[in-house]
Amino acid sequence: MLRAIQMTDSLRQIITKLKDQNLFRVLKKVENDQGTTLVVDGKTYLNFSSNNYLGLANHPELIKASVDATQKFGTSSGASRLITGSMSLHHELEETIARFKGCEAALVFNSGYHANIGVIPTLTDKEDYIFSDELNHASLIDACRLSHATTQVYRHNDLNHLEELLQKSPATNHTKLIITDSVFSMDGDLAPLPQMMALAEKYHATVFVDEAHGTGVFGKTGRGVVEHFRIDSNHPRLIQMGTLGKALGSFGAYVCGSSELKEFLINKSRAFIYTTALPPGVIAASIAAFKVVGQNPELRKNLWGHVDYFKTELQKIIKGSEFYLAPSESPIIPLVVGDTSQTMKISNLLFEAGVWAHPIRPPTVPEGTSRIRFTLMATHTPTQLDDCLGMLKLVL
Ligand SMILES: *Cc1c(COP(=O)(O)O)cnc(C)c1O
Repeated sequence: MLRAIQMTDSLRQIITKLKDQNLFRVLKKVENDQGTTLVVDGKTYLNFSSNNYLGLANHPELIKASVDATQKFGTSSGASRLITGSMSLHHELEETIARFKGCEAALVFNSGYHANIGVIPTLTDKEDYIFSDELNHASLIDACRLSHATTQVYRHNDLNHLEELLQKSPATNHTKLIITDSVFSMDGDLAPLPQMMALAEKYHATVFVDEAHGTGVFGKTGRGVVEHFRIDSNHPRLIQMGTLGKALGSFGAYVCGSSELKEFLINKSRAFIYTTALPPGVIAASIAAFKVVGQNPELRKNLWGHVDYFKTELQKIIKGSEFYLAPSESPIIPLVVGDTSQTMKISNLLFEAGVWAHPIRPPTVPEGTSRIRFTLMATHTPTQLDDCLGMLKLVL
């Protein structure tokens, strides 16, 4: 009891400190589906903060597939994949993903976070080396922490620094894993994958690329940044991972590569083995999502049209101010304000005006680079884009 009281006291101290530093976070309560508008407390906001890039989260085909599968197969998979939870739908999804990505094999994980912590520590051991971009997603950082390998962090997208570290690592037969986001989620820029693949060849390393924000969005057929750069999906030095919860409008994640990789992970990956398999409704929605992505290339075309327009107009609005757009190459458009309290003020003003554009502050981004992150969706209407830009003109 005494210990519980002490615990509460120390938590309160931490909370007070976060509030003092403008870093305290609270959850909002969204009362509708994940479309281009969100309802909070009965008020409607334009949604410029979603990862639902293609608007598939409320697509009728995904909903129907999910409802049908739930009716036929129930609400739960009942067990982990290795016990009784590996249903025909899971296998169908894995075949669908392998075909879509052009890989030999794919394995589904329960989320992108699970996939990263489930693959990276399983592939590497004490004597191995990991090379990780300093701006990698938290799930990749946690994966490195869980691994017993020596992790070396290279400066963001700095190929010279990466090569320097690769050069210094012992020329042994041990695993060398280069880990990177394909699209960096806070800046929207891309990893120089072709050059990284060349370094992997030169130093006998493997590239693990996280396509969370790439899948469905980049490349001629939406396979991701790997397709954008025309890298062979079956390259023996490449492992790809992506989530089904962002552009694909569903939930879960995949890892793809060789069939040996898949068999190895089924046998060794703790985050795969010790968790209940995703439910039928979710898996069926994911299968439907790949179908919709394949049949509707105009979704990507709309999205990229919106990105061009929004960036051009926003540049005009901030011209001559101290604000700037991070050099994004994706539907993630970060307006860097700098100061955290000013960022919060602008974000709050936008929210009051009916625009939900999320502020991103330390520790998610470095000190002094607090920003408002706009993410665009294929399903935004031109009027919605103009309404958001209009509000920005007023508050900036
Ligand atoms: C969102 C994200 C993840 C986590 O994926 P979830 O399916 O949401 O768990 C992993 N990596 C990156 C780069 C992400 O942006």
